[in-house]
Amino acid sequence: MITVFGSANMDLVAYVGRAPKLGETVTGRDFRTVPGGKGANQAIAAARAGAPVTFLGAVGEDAFGAEMRDTLAGAGVDVGLLRRAPGVSGIAHIVVDDEGGNSIIVVPGANGTVTGPTADERAVIAASRALLLQLELPMPAVTAAARAAREAGVPVILTPAPAQPLPEALLDAVTLLLPNEHEAAGITGAADPGAALDKLLERVEEAVITLGSQGALYGSRAGERLHVPAVPVKAVDTTAAGDTFAGALAVARAEGRPAAEALRFAAAAAALSVRREGASTSMPLRAEIDAELA
Ligand code: ATP
Repeated sequence: MITVFGSANMDLVAYVGRAPKLGETVTGRDFRTVPGGKGANQAIAAARAGAPVTFLGAVGEDAFGAEMRDTLAGAGVDVGLLRRAPGVSGIAHIVVDDEGGNSIIVVPGANGTVTGPTADERAVIAASRALLLQLELPMPAVTAAARAAREAGVPVILTPAPAQPLPEALLDAVTLLLPNEHEAAGITGAADPGAALDKLLERVEEAVITLGSQGALYGSRAGERLHVPAVPVKAVDTTAAGDTFAGALAVARAEGRPAAEALRFAAAAAALSVRREGASTSMPLRAEIDAELA
């Protein structure tokens, strides 16, 4: 089993000719609600990639909370311990204009109420093959979850997004750090991904830097270095490519596959998601990933 301790957000997306200025009202042409949040996305990606997955986090008492719970459960994710916090669910209020530009307001809502894992949640983490973390929950909660996993000998994979300073107490408990190239540069101060990888390995045992259509770089303290190219595809929508990569990578690692094979599995899954529109709905099923690699 893979456990994700992370965020669930409802994306509220309005499409307009141009975004309103302060005090102005404009008429939009379309509106969509899309369940998301990096935690929920990674959980769905891992479930679709073929692993039993438990999602730990919180949704609010509103209709969005119920919908996100249903979406996760519908993807086969165990939500038995998902907390229901008083107040609103996390939302991302997104305005997309005709030029493709966007402005976003994130309200953490229930995500902001999440504290470190409860006794029941710790038991789930301790029984997992891997713990997936991101930084959309309060840092003390993320750090406590990472430490609970480390104490139980469970590998911790951390996507350090959104970018922010990383406490030593968190990094000490991380097995594999999974930034994109911008986050890697922010953490290390090194613009070159190869140099950034070397610096990351001073702080964690393994790291993967994702490079969009350029693939991903892997390194371990044991001295292994790999570049896995992206699978060439016509990109339709790269939303949640990184989350799909993270979920699939966790599945392959939990199955005990060596790094090179696990990275090829993750790259195939991410490429398949890029080929289709949407976030969680574009994430590939196990059979599709296996067919891509055959
Ligand atoms: P996002 O924030 O959109 O979820 P990210 O910035 O976290 O993405 P990226 O580095 O853009 O992550 O992409 C993650 C992985 O997805 C890449 O390592 C690659 O394997 C795959 N990928 C991304 N873009 C493409 C593309 N255009 N074609 C093929 N594969 C892609």
